[in-house]
Amino acid sequence: MGKRIVILGSSFGGLNTALHLRKLLGNGHSITVVSADPQFTFIPSLPWVVAGRREPSAIQCPVAPRLKRNGVEYVQDAITAVDPERQEAVGKNGVYPYDYLVAATGSELDFGAVSGLGPIKGHSQSIFNVEQALQARAALEKLLRAGSGTIVLGNAQGASCLGPVYEMALLIDALLRKRKARHKFKMALFTNEPHLGHFGVGGFGAMTRMLEDEFADREIECHLNSKISGITPDHVELENGVRFGNGFSLIVPAFFGSHAYMGIEGLANPRGFVLADDHLANPKYPNIYAVGVSLAIAPPAPTPVPVGVPKTGQMTDDMAKKAAYNISADIQNRPKIMGKDFSVTCIADGGNTAFFIGAAPLLPPRDWLIHKKSILFHYLKEGLEKYYMASVRYGLPLPTFPF
Ligand SMILES: Cc1cc2nc3c(=O)[nH]c(=O)nc-3n(C[C@H](O)[C@H](O)[C@H](O)COP(=O)(O)OP(=O)(O)OC[C@H]3O[C@@H](n4cnc5c(N)ncnc54)[C@H](O)[C@@H]3O)c2cc1C
Repeated sequence: MGKRIVILGSSFGGLNTALHLRKLLGNGHSITVVSADPQFTFIPSLPWVVAGRREPSAIQCPVAPRLKRNGVEYVQDAITAVDPERQEAVGKNGVYPYDYLVAATGSELDFGAVSGLGPIKGHSQSIFNVEQALQARAALEKLLRAGSGTIVLGNAQGASCLGPVYEMALLIDALLRKRKARHKFKMALFTNEPHLGHFGVGGFGAMTRMLEDEFADREIECHLNSKISGITPDHVELENGVRFGNGFSLIVPAFFGSHAYMGIEGLANPRGFVLADDHLANPKYPNIYAVGVSLAIAPPAPTPVPVGVPKTGQMTDDMAKKAAYNISADIQNRPKIMGKDFSVTCIADGGNTAFFIGAAPLLPPRDWLIHKKSILFHYLKEGLEKYYMASVRYGLPLPTFPF
């Protein structure tokens, strides 16, 4: 009898899992994607939206047609709870019974952890969806029109998605230099990391020195091991007493996984990230898999201020393929493969240059590590964005490149 596979989320994790599963399983099983957002967004391009280099239409398209073309059903709904005993995911509009469940719901943003944090109830900008990016773009343009002020980019205590703040600092610096206005704005970056380029994994060799040089040359003041004590309309204040003017601030919060998984003994950690074994299956409920940001990964070593482990888009695509393989292997009685042997490839754009990082495995010591700075990586990132969007829009094979 055919199995019912329900995938929660339709971004990098959910989309890739669904398409790979359909390829591996053929047509005898039902695959349903349930997701809150009917649009696929190429999230790595959101910093370009803030900097005015992209319009949302270039990096968004409906996801359902791509899924439908590959025999995957799409339902728009927000999941509020999962009942692993009854094998049901519960949404606002319906209940989704499953034989296999894949958690690919990314993160929820913990703006409540810091007073004044976030664009809704607080006084800082954010960058996790198109609406936030457009709001940040408007706030930045407002400051630039004002002609002078302080621009603050920061990673809050517990943050794990650390790259966008580096990218935003470099992109804004490049924008200001292009307008010959850099001398009118003070720029500061603070991060929860113990050194620049730690990225929650202990760093990437001498890349730290490369970033230190880059930020020194661009005269962007950097603060490490930072904890925010509060944000007001006028100031961003750190716990060590350092205070910045709040002309424009974009601050990345810590994540929750999902409240839908929280509090289910054995399924998720206290912050709602799904626990998984080496095959990406939950140890207590082995028919539940986790991919991408939903997956719980413990920090490799403690840091003075908590820093989470990042899960990049490329890591997410890789996990999706492995989870799909392991679900198909389970159904077809084949041996499963290792799902947690992470490596990473990433391009951080800097506006007028870019940085490539490649490392295997993800955590040091490694067999392979490369970091290079070149404008060529900027063009590579643009090309990957265009190809990725074309593949979602027109059904081309999804790429397996770094981006
Ligand atoms: C600004 C920025 C820049 C980045 N740049 C890069 C980069 O250059 N390179 C790189 O490799 N990675 C980058 N990343 C990381 C990359 O975007 C993530 O790794 C990737 O988006 C993770 O995919 P995901 O599917 O796990 O989760 P997400 O992309 O967060 O998607 C979650 C999905 O689940 C859905 N969902 C959420 N909650 C629910 C619910 N309750 N019910 C139903 N559906 C739900 C959402 O609608 C969405 O479809 C960047 C991230 C950001 C924020």
